[in-house]
Amino acid sequence: MTLRSRITLLTAGLLLVTLLVLGLALEGLLRGFLYRSLRQELLEASNQVVRLLNLGGQTLLEAGLPASLYAELQLLPEENPALLAQEGGISLQKSPALGSQRLLLKEADYRTLLERGEAWAYAELPREGPPLKLLVYARRVEVNLSGTVWQGALLVGKPVESLESTLSQFARIYAGTALLVLLLSILLARSLVARALEPLEWVARRAEAITTRPEPLPEPEGRDEVATLVRALNGMLSRMQQAFLAQTRFLQDASHELRTPITAILGHVGYLLRRTPLTEAQRESLEIVKREAERMGKLVSDLLELSQSGTWRIEPVPLRVLDLLEEIREEFAPGFAGEIRVEADPGLYLLGDPYRLHQVLANLVTNAIKAKAQRITLKAFGVEGRVVVRVEDDGEGIPQEHLPRIFERFYRVDKARDRERGGSGLGLAIVKAILEAHGGEIWVESEVGKGTAFSFSLPSAAPPPPLR
Ligand code: ADP
Repeated sequence: MTLRSRITLLTAGLLLVTLLVLGLALEGLLRGFLYRSLRQELLEASNQVVRLLNLGGQTLLEAGLPASLYAELQLLPEENPALLAQEGGISLQKSPALGSQRLLLKEADYRTLLERGEAWAYAELPREGPPLKLLVYARRVEVNLSGTVWQGALLVGKPVESLESTLSQFARIYAGTALLVLLLSILLARSLVARALEPLEWVARRAEAITTRPEPLPEPEGRDEVATLVRALNGMLSRMQQAFLAQTRFLQDASHELRTPITAILGHVGYLLRRTPLTEAQRESLEIVKREAERMGKLVSDLLELSQSGTWRIEPVPLRVLDLLEEIREEFAPGFAGEIRVEADPGLYLLGDPYRLHQVLANLVTNAIKAKAQRITLKAFGVEGRVVVRVEDDGEGIPQEHLPRIFERFYRVDKARDRERGGSGLGLAIVKAILEAHGGEIWVESEVGKGTAFSFSLPSAAPPPPLR
């Protein structure tokens, strides 16, 4: 997951939790407030009825119970909660809202009422659809009827329906608003994070674009974290550059230094071989010294070449591919027992440095000859703005496991055999470096016993206009 998504997700998560907690708290506050008001209303209504009762039961019977409430005055001749829950007390008076229905509490609520003298309870009145839910305040009262005092209960209730619908309406509005806020914040957070990370992505792009030689990144203005990062990267790049230069200089110096003694050895061995009488054994030894010195000479010049690859000046010009391939054939055919064939469209041109491309092809053909090829085919064709050149041979082939590492420096398939054949193990590394310096690429296909094909692609060029 990207940093951008992580920060956005974290922000969204935090906001979601905050909105949830806030929503629950607000709902709780609103619910408490609404229920408190309802309780207050019921308490006041019951006080009013009790005031009337104190004036005598008859007064209440005449005045009636408040019409705005669901209320009932019951006499309790028997104080048995289970029985009361089933049948209620003797109904003395009911408010008109109740109609023919009775206001009954649950057994536990009747018990609380009888024990404590008052109780808060929920009661349900059956009707069409879901029953009507009421909040009921019940209290014990004494009813004086014509001089006889009866134990009774006053029940006053009000529906909680409108209160609950206010609460659910609040919940819907809150959820909708919270969702909108959440969505807007996610969008805002995404764009803010993207803007904040833009300089970092810029640094990453610039650093990625560095391929061969490390170049310093342009430092952004200011002293923020990104500027610090760029300065640190530039410091590292410059140290890398210095290490790279030191390594190149060392390789160049070592190669130059080695060349002189090798030239001297070859000179003296040549002199001894040509000018002095030698026994067969001495001649043989000197031939070995000569061969090894020559091999070392090639190794040193390949090494020097490769060490300079970072500083090569490649000047591509349009080249006719057929000419390039024919030139190689003419150069190698006389000394080669097998056949070299050239297959290319005469109108095919590529962009390249003639000297360097000649070096590439000569290297590939030399390798094919060393692999005991009998037939070498040099092919070229155009594909989507590029030219692919193939050097195919029917030589020994390369085992599959070596193919991925074949272009590495000093990599040889069969160390002893390849040494014998005078290779340095640097040829293909040089070929690859040359092609990469041209913006090209190289790949290999091979099968042991059947042969090998090295292919490389380079940008194609338009044929030059005909001379008049
Ligand atoms: P060298 O300079 O020693 O020839 P290269 O880098 O040119 O080294 O080649 C590396 C190894 O790849 C060689 O030692 C050889 O074993 C193998 N190789 C290269 N080209 C071919 C080929 N056409 N057929 C078979 N083996 C090959």
